[in-house]
Amino acid sequence: MVCRRKKDMPFYRYQTRIAMKDLGEINPMDIEDYIAVGGYLALAKALTEMHPEEVIEEVKKSGLRGRGGAGFPTGRKWEGARRAPGEKKYVICNGDEGDPGAFMDRSIMEGNPHSVLEGMLICAYAIGSDEGYIYVRAEYPLAVKRLELAIEQAKERGLLGERILGTNFNFDLHVKKGAGAFICGESTTLMISIEGKRPAPRVTPPRSVEQGLWGMPTCLNNVETFANIPAIILNGGDWYAQYGTEGSKGTKAFCITGKTRNTGLIEVPMGMTLKEVVFKVGGGVMGEGKFKAVQTGGPSGGCIPDAYIDASVDFESLTRLGSMMGSGGMVVVDDRTCMVDFARFFLSFTQRESCGKCPPCRIGTYEMLQILDRIVAGKGEEGDIERLEAIGRMVKKTSLCGLGQSAPNPVLSTIKYFRAEYEAHIRQKHCPAGACTSLGNY
Ligand code: SF4
Repeated sequence: MVCRRKKDMPFYRYQTRIAMKDLGEINPMDIEDYIAVGGYLALAKALTEMHPEEVIEEVKKSGLRGRGGAGFPTGRKWEGARRAPGEKKYVICNGDEGDPGAFMDRSIMEGNPHSVLEGMLICAYAIGSDEGYIYVRAEYPLAVKRLELAIEQAKERGLLGERILGTNFNFDLHVKKGAGAFICGESTTLMISIEGKRPAPRVTPPRSVEQGLWGMPTCLNNVETFANIPAIILNGGDWYAQYGTEGSKGTKAFCITGKTRNTGLIEVPMGMTLKEVVFKVGGGVMGEGKFKAVQTGGPSGGCIPDAYIDASVDFESLTRLGSMMGSGGMVVVDDRTCMVDFARFFLSFTQRESCGKCPPCRIGTYEMLQILDRIVAGKGEEGDIERLEAIGRMVKKTSLCGLGQSAPNPVLSTIKYFRAEYEAHIRQKHCPAGACTSLGNY
């Protein structure tokens, strides 16, 4: 009955839910509820009917790519971890979701923790691992509590521990709490953090699938990626691949926020246009404002202007436009938002969260932020835009990890598409959006 009502609501009508299918429908604190909707059937199928290589083949066939941001093909990653030599292998779930305004993983961990456990169990069977970690932000206490309860219940049911479902497969799982650093969401840093050392990214190679946690082959995927696995194993890779585009299969969860009528958690097929996401699912721009742009990929992504509203939401197309899929943050911007200040907001976040290990990111993001502060305060100078572009390109090219390599994106994309706004701030000391109070627009 709840489902029928949901289908009538525009917010849900255009969504296709796979990873988030049972969110809000089952009691996340009761394993029986999960089992009642088919939970752990995929694990049983994998353990009793499929060879580990067949599991990997099915995941490869699905075309699933990592939902944490990088978009690496999941099946290929699992294959790499299976083939890597090592007496011990680990599975890690990255639940260290840190993008401002993004809470997809949090909702899955809180609303259906068993789907994450089941996905990890299937991965462990496929790669030959007997131990795993779920790394969760300490700021998500409810997620931690529900995951711990889910682990306890799964153990009682013989779904975790020794001889799972009467087979020779063993798997033990631990929850590890992160201490709030954004950089711990980066895969190499996350593993260093689990090992109890000071977290900072390390140079790759070696890749984690070859030498990850404690130097052992490690398969790391994020929460949403694992939550997709049970449906793929149960229904088949071809079933999953029917959704999406040629290069980006399946669905993607987003948190749509900002100046849109309907804000919240959505899951849509890849290939839906930005216009459909913003105007059909999101219900369009709230109040009297006009649509101006949408920021995808959180602080690592870029701003896509109105002119590209018909662009498809998929890995390739968002990257082509100077943005990225990221983990799924989507901020809708209206015509009363200052794009210079908007870029400054995201850069101030990444600058604050830079671990400081490499100078291009540590110093470059700081210098860029100083220039942006000056521009929004009406003290911008001729040449500031070019300086931002030059430093931004250098930071992207020479930073050690993804944080630095993507931190300039919000600035570079807003300069690319909204250069006139930067010029108005610098030359006329005027904010065209009327949003920068220090420029006397109010
Ligand atoms: Fe640290 Fe930034 Fe360098 Fe990454 S790019 S290692 S966050 S300083």
